[in-house]
Amino acid sequence: MPRKSYTPGDFSLLVKRSNTGLGLFAGEAIPKGACVIEYIGEEITKEQEEKSRSKYLFEIHARKTIDGAPRWNTARYINHSCRANCEPNIHKGRVFIHAKRNIKPGEELNYDYGVNYFKQYLKDICGCPKCQEKRAAPVRAAAARKSVKKITKKTASKKR
Ligand SMILES: [Zn+2]
Repeated sequence: MPRKSYTPGDFSLLVKRSNTGLGLFAGEAIPKGACVIEYIGEEITKEQEEKSRSKYLFEIHARKTIDGAPRWNTARYINHSCRANCEPNIHKGRVFIHAKRNIKPGEELNYDYGVNYFKQYLKDICGCPKCQEKRAAPVRAAAARKSVKKITKKTASKKR
């Protein structure tokens, strides 16, 4: 594969309703490995980060966090998935979202937000298609990772 590009391609991306609010969708095919979009925002201090209630914080390294809450950060609409088709990559203090596989037109873009985000904001309930499938098929879920099992159980009891 060619060297990773950190210049977002000029892909058509659409903000549309998804099953968890708004989401970002591919308006055209995106090839595996392509740089899709940069996650942009305001750089904030550690102090601001601790006080912040933003759900769009992205810690780049120990001394740099960006708050991607502004609407001009189109990448903020990318939802979490445990079976993501994109992944964030940090490059020279900036965050770029790359396609992990070939993405078809109309597909929703997502990446794995990571364990900490999950605990803090998603309240251990994941709305991604992979986790919804697991809830629908408890037998298969039993074979899943321990952490995922816990989530599934909690979700199931809350629904009753
Ligand atoms: Zn999930």
